[in-house]
Amino acid sequence: MMKTSKKSPATRYCYHCRTHHPVEEMKLLVTKTGSRWRCVKSIEAVKRSKEERDQYGRQVSALNQAEASGRARMLNKIQSER
Ligand SMILES: [Zn+2]
Repeated sequence: MMKTSKKSPATRYCYHCRTHHPVEEMKLLVTKTGSRWRCVKSIEAVKRSKEERDQYGRQVSALNQAEASGRARMLNKIQSER
């Protein structure tokens, strides 16, 4: 155990935010290159934004599909009217 000269709050360096956070907000992640501390907040934020992206992606693809089928119908109509 290392002895520290002054009593400092337990923090860990967050490789994601490149700053120190209180240790209770941190999570130790084990990667190929070693273990790294990362704050729960950034992990949650990524998880949330991924879910939002997925949801957005689903919405967009549904919209594209609707638009594509609509366009196809329109093209069919134009071609049949000609
Ligand atoms: Zn962080």
